[in-house]
Amino acid sequence: MIDSKFAAAIVGFGGMGNWHGEILKDFDDLFCAGVYDIDPARLEYAGGLGLKAYGSLDEVLKDPGIDIVVIATPNDLHKEIALKAMRSGKNIVCEKPVTLSSADLREMIDCANECNVLFTVHQNRRWDEDYLTMKNIFESKTLGDVFNIESRVHGSRGIPGDWRGRKSQGGGMVLDWGVHILDQLLQMIPGKVKTVYGRMNHVTNYEVDDGFRIIMTFESGITALAEVGTSNFISLPRWYMQGENGTAVIEDFSCKGKIVSITNWDLKDAVPVKTAAGLTKTMAPRTEETIKESVLPEIKSDIHDFYRNVVGTISGKSTSLIKHEELMRCMKLMEAAFRSDESGQIVDFE
Ligand code: NAD
Repeated sequence: MIDSKFAAAIVGFGGMGNWHGEILKDFDDLFCAGVYDIDPARLEYAGGLGLKAYGSLDEVLKDPGIDIVVIATPNDLHKEIALKAMRSGKNIVCEKPVTLSSADLREMIDCANECNVLFTVHQNRRWDEDYLTMKNIFESKTLGDVFNIESRVHGSRGIPGDWRGRKSQGGGMVLDWGVHILDQLLQMIPGKVKTVYGRMNHVTNYEVDDGFRIIMTFESGITALAEVGTSNFISLPRWYMQGENGTAVIEDFSCKGKIVSITNWDLKDAVPVKTAAGLTKTMAPRTEETIKESVLPEIKSDIHDFYRNVVGTISGKSTSLIKHEELMRCMKLMEAAFRSDESGQIVDFE
């Protein structure tokens, strides 16, 4: 700690390492002191930003001025770097997915407890406003009791051609995006997940999943779908939520969307729809006399709260927002989804 400011060193200064470097500029009580990356070009870049470029991980860990090690390397390296850093007395902010299996995660949690350091994971999408809006609608019962939630992230660029396409490095969309959107659903929907069904896609990559559908059934009866696609040239909405009295949709990360809810169950307004081959009253659209459209609640968040909590936790003033048991539950859920994909069966979970 220097001048009552906590000092962080970023290990792995690629896309996300750089993101951490940028956000750490916004704090009075926390700053980025330096960087280590195996790529000399990234170290040179860091030097150009005025950051210390460490020559090795050991050099970072031996620096008594460093309080926090931020790990933003490819996924397979998180565990090894975190264990070493915790044993050197450093607090850890680890990128997601925290690691590749629940057994590895158990080792990391045990090590954090033994070393008495902070071990937290950058589950930054808990601050996504689209997610927080849906959580608000769910909890406030705006739609009445919710019975189905669908969370989708769709792109059309395939899986990136870097380490994300390699199994040995923890590639694949379940570990990349799944860990975010499953974590969000677990945070939103209370109670146990009774069953999990997972189906992985391999459209552009056979080694790892380049998309997936995971369906969870909660003890409460609520069903939730988590879906990621990288071959979706037409995207489905980011969120779709059904309650007994209405439906909410969010189109994209910008929170464009709406709520449509029932105003009059009793009015028989259905005008049968004639299709080329038949007639339907059940599927006839409702009229304005029985439904109303409303705007989504406006929920604001600040991602700086993640690092505010890191500082608060290290200072002993708060407890970590990202709980170890939540990380473990999400990791086990992803493992259950892979088991389901392999067997083609629905698997029991909790
Ligand atoms: P990247 O490939 O852009 O960067 C990884 C960096 O790690 C590279 O600069 C590489 O040279 C370096 N590196 C590799 N091996 C190293 C080692 N042994 N020691 C030190 N540095 C090493 O990848 P990225 O997109 O920045 O992803 C990094 C991590 O951040 C991943 O775990 C990824 O899942 C995560 N991530 C999180 C979010 C989020 O929103 N939370 C977004 C993107 C990536």
